[in-house]
Amino acid sequence: MTEGLSGTTDPFDCGDGDTLKEECGVFGILGDADAAAHTVLGLHALQHRGQEAAGIVSYDGRQFNSHRGMGHVSENFNNETVMERLTGDMAVGHTRYATTGGTILRNVQPLFAEFDFGGFAIAHNGNLTNALTIRRELQKRGCLFQSTSDTEVVTHLIAISDQNTFEERLIDALRQIEGAYSFVCMTNTTLIGARDPLGVRPLVLGKLDRAHILCSETCALDIIGAEFVRDIDPGEVVMITHDEVRSLKPFPKQHPRFCIFEYIYFARPDSVSEGHSVYEVRKQIGIQLAKESPADVDVVVPVPDSGVPAALGFAAASGIPFEYGIIRNHYVGRTFIQPTDKTRHLGVKRKHNPNKEVLAGKRVVLVDDSIVRGTTSIKIVEMVRQAGATEVHMRISSPPTAHPCFFGIDTPDYDKLLAAQHDLAGMASLLGVDSLAFISIDGLYKAVGETKRDMDHPQYCDACFTGDYPLPLTDKNAGGQPKQLSLLSEERQAG
Ligand code: AMP
Repeated sequence: MTEGLSGTTDPFDCGDGDTLKEECGVFGILGDADAAAHTVLGLHALQHRGQEAAGIVSYDGRQFNSHRGMGHVSENFNNETVMERLTGDMAVGHTRYATTGGTILRNVQPLFAEFDFGGFAIAHNGNLTNALTIRRELQKRGCLFQSTSDTEVVTHLIAISDQNTFEERLIDALRQIEGAYSFVCMTNTTLIGARDPLGVRPLVLGKLDRAHILCSETCALDIIGAEFVRDIDPGEVVMITHDEVRSLKPFPKQHPRFCIFEYIYFARPDSVSEGHSVYEVRKQIGIQLAKESPADVDVVVPVPDSGVPAALGFAAASGIPFEYGIIRNHYVGRTFIQPTDKTRHLGVKRKHNPNKEVLAGKRVVLVDDSIVRGTTSIKIVEMVRQAGATEVHMRISSPPTAHPCFFGIDTPDYDKLLAAQHDLAGMASLLGVDSLAFISIDGLYKAVGETKRDMDHPQYCDACFTGDYPLPLTDKNAGGQPKQLSLLSEERQAG
């Protein structure tokens, strides 16, 4: 889900209020007397996918009920009065990533619309790359948008479709949008899941007694004791009623391009995505990294938490002891999610503390998942040196992040991406490390069980590393894709 513009006449002008936000978690359930309560739990398990806002819409056979709010799931739904209102055996929920100070409640999902056929709620993980183009056309035709979210184009496209049934109108809408989407939607009879033809973002189907569940990751099934049934296929639309689960394949088959960064950083390690344990992939990356770029050191130290599985793999493959040389405080949010550059710097200190016993007098290799702007790494390296490490080497379990993502992961634009601005030696010198190495692209593909990257038909979306975007960037090519730098932009600091 991306947010675009607010209060500007030009839909391609981002304005300085609301900007992009992607990275989300979606959850839906049908046929469960505790639908809303289970949705809250599911959203708790998906909280890592979005921490700015959360929302739930339920249906109780008579009416739709909703609650949306800024902040974490626990801040919004640990409330009896709220939960008592969310009645019914169907519900959809959404967690959303942090963004600018200009954030407004009307953008918090699930979005809801009243159609001629009844109510409709939609929750989106991903980013539509032609939403601004469609929005501009629809506005010219008289459509009045209620939010600044890219997701809203879907509801308008359904509303104006000349097809007959809801199902046909939904598919008509899906055929017009481009980009990454895992949708969980709901009418008064049906829970709907839809995944874009490339399957960029995850979406899984689960079962709990007689209830069916759709959610971003299997960890959201685990938390409610539901069993994993299967991944929703790329390009698949599932229509779930109390009587049946029907699968539609309305798109021509394409080579799937699941986001490889989900394995590296974004998904929870205890999830299984597209048949691979996220934890195991991360460990395998560490093993590959140790083979490709060994380090002659005394101790392997992860940057917690995201660097831990790769560091375990690195330590196992190199025979060097793994130690917690940096301790993470779990009671602060992710470092990345800070409102200004100033507080983001402080955030690193709030979050990580060196374990001096482990580091003093040692040659250390730090293992982290990715370097985006380099802010975190610079601070961590300095911290480890101050704690007495004699050498600090760094190994990164992703290739250099040299390109922005337009498919649902919030990354800065080229000017703020460390790897877009500097070569390896330049990065090493900026970070102040004795050596720096990233996993190779083929090493990464090996960790997910491939022999190498298929250059003609890449098995994954790896555009943030290669610049090989899986689809044309329609809005951007029309001069209008707003910056993806929502968390990091100068405008944001001003806001
Ligand atoms: P940076 O300080 O910008 O280099 O941040 C890099 C760290 O942020 C990585 O080590 C990850 O743990 C985390 N990270 C990477 N990509 C993202 C993202 N898209 N959203 C949130 N956190 C991220």
